Amino acid sequence: MRAFAYHAPSSLAEAVALLDREGDGGKILAGGTDLLIHIKERGMVPRYVLSLRDIKELSAISYDESSGLRIGAAAKLSDVASHPVVLERYPIVGQGASLVGSLQIQNLGTVAGNLCNAAPSADCAPPLIALDASVRVAGKNGERIVPLAGFFVGPGRTVLQPGELVAEVLAPPPPPRSGGSYERFTPRQEMDIAVVGVGSVVQLGQGDRCVQARICLGAVAPTPVRAREAEAVLAGQVLSPELIERAAETAAAEARPITDQRGTADYRKHLVKVLTKRTLTAAWEDARGVEARGNSVWQN
Ligand SMILES: Cc1cc2nc3c(=O)[nH]c(=O)nc-3n(C[C@H](O)[C@H](O)[C@H](O)COP(=O)(O)OP(=O)(O)OC[C@H]3O[C@@H](n4cnc5c(N)ncnc54)[C@H](O)[C@@H]3O)c2cc1C
Repeated sequence: MRAFAYHAPSSLAEAVALLDREGDGGKILAGGTDLLIHIKERGMVPRYVLSLRDIKELSAISYDESSGLRIGAAAKLSDVASHPVVLERYPIVGQGASLVGSLQIQNLGTVAGNLCNAAPSADCAPPLIALDASVRVAGKNGERIVPLAGFFVGPGRTVLQPGELVAEVLAPPPPPRSGGSYERFTPRQEMDIAVVGVGSVVQLGQGDRCVQARICLGAVAPTPVRAREAEAVLAGQVLSPELIERAAETAAAEARPITDQRGTADYRKHLVKVLTKRTLTAAWEDARGVEARGNSVWQN
């Protein structure tokens, strides 16, 4: 491993100024569970590393009725997965975060790091895209909000420009009578990455009529992708097991996975169908459950 400069600013403003001053060739260090492997084992040679560790403002996880959930870029996956607001109002986020690696990895790694690493199999991406989440990006020219659906460019690549970092992940307030679910398939129970991951969010209107559904597929394309044709099957319709089966078949038909060492394209399509069906069914139950649990779920 070659030597590199190390910076540990104590505020976001200082971090942005450092990135501007140091220029190209730097890497942001959050938990380091991806970055340090790239540096130690894959020949990455950053000119400098800028750690988020000492930026207290970036460790916060908070919720507000009007703006929703905010996850600071330095908040640990384990803190996110066990946060009361996440457990009550955004369980799908906790489902993704608690599948990343092991407890040791979750005690180091961050949601923002998982997104910025931009692996097609990243477990935090489908749940957050299904929630219509965004990231707050900070850089020398100020801040911008980027919807996660447009954040990923390809494996390991995002729309972040040199000198920019993700400060926060933002998920909107969950609409009434909405629910979500994330599931992935891995050959091993633990410490494996998704062959396919699916995150689904469903919002109900009157009875079981679906106002809107968002389905996001992971590990079937260079970036996480919405299954928009499958979503259209559900929108405005009364949910039933048969309709969900049709949506799952549509998701499998529109997915364009590749064959690699972890699964063939056909196998991945089969997994898309199975996981879409399971997550839509769970999201539907979750949306009904929110109503059954009453307002206490939504007020605090
Ligand atoms: C043993 C093991 C098992 C794993 N299992 C899984 C798994 O099951 N599922 C899964 O999805 N991932 C898995 N991972 C990958 C990794 O743990 C996750 O992606 C983790 O969430 C990365 O977060 P981090 O904070 O450690 O990121 P880091 O390693 O610190 O950063 C990752 C990348 O994002 C950039 N970055 C980080 N934060 C920011 C920011 N705020 N703004 C801009 N750029 C930033 C870094 O420069 C780097 O390029 C595993 C890794 C290991 C080592």
